[in-house]
Amino acid sequence: MARKPAIAQTVKSLRARVAKWRAAGERIAMVPTMGALHSGHLSLVEEAHRKAKRTVVSIFVNPTQFAPSEDFARYPRTFREDVKKLAELNVDCVFAPDVSEMYPAGFSTRIEMNGPAEELESVARPHFFGGVATIVCKLLLQCGPDIAVFGEKDYQQLLVVRTMARDLDVPCTIHGAPTVREADGLAMSSRNTYLSAEHRATAPVLYRTLIDTAIHIREGSSIAWALREARSNLSISGFKVDYIEARHAETLAPLNRLGDGPIRLLVAAWLGRTRLIDNIPV
Ligand code: AMP
Repeated sequence: MARKPAIAQTVKSLRARVAKWRAAGERIAMVPTMGALHSGHLSLVEEAHRKAKRTVVSIFVNPTQFAPSEDFARYPRTFREDVKKLAELNVDCVFAPDVSEMYPAGFSTRIEMNGPAEELESVARPHFFGGVATIVCKLLLQCGPDIAVFGEKDYQQLLVVRTMARDLDVPCTIHGAPTVREADGLAMSSRNTYLSAEHRATAPVLYRTLIDTAIHIREGSSIAWALREARSNLSISGFKVDYIEARHAETLAPLNRLGDGPIRLLVAAWLGRTRLIDNIPV
């Protein structure tokens, strides 16, 4: 039966709630999101439930990870529907601060990261991971969960967050959960709602291209050749490719050959005004 989650809008009220669970010795999981929840997000919540007695889901569209040219203003906001979905999953608490709670006047700190934050997403979005690392660090310090669940859908982000937590001694395990896809293979994303019908029909080509590329590499094609094929296939299908790369799955260091380590294929490409990202293991 659905049980409405408690809604905390301030750090103080979040901490008061979490403190009670802590005092009772209960394990706590957190799922940070920007809302507009879909089945991908909900799978993270289910994973959180399996890992801990209590689950906190944060809903916060973080302005500092958007460039002025990006979609902060038009990013979908569906708070009531989100809370209904979370109630059905018996989430204990929704943390939904407003911008002034997270960034009060005089806020002056930003985490700067190298390593997994370099290249790939950072080429087109150089502001992005500083904003993500800072807000996730704040959320983890505000809530103090034992574990936080992030989607492999945003694979570089998952590694950035894991590295940030390790480097800054944030006492929280960062757990990655698999990408949830539509029936035709398109990775679920709140931004898929931006796609026109025509672009929506083309969008699954992104995942199919990743699959074909992984097969080529596993069957012995050179990585460079397989990526050239992929790029050209995407362009022919109407995508404007930002990058498609094969990287070391744990460090995101460049890789030249199968056998140099576990490989992750990562892609970002535009369909019209919508930028899609996806990734798979080889
Ligand atoms: P967002 O609200 O887009 O910032 O995403 C919040 C969390 O949900 C992040 O950890 C994402 O990686 C994760 N996520 C988004 N889409 C999916 C998906 N299709 N499958 C699994 N996790 C996802």
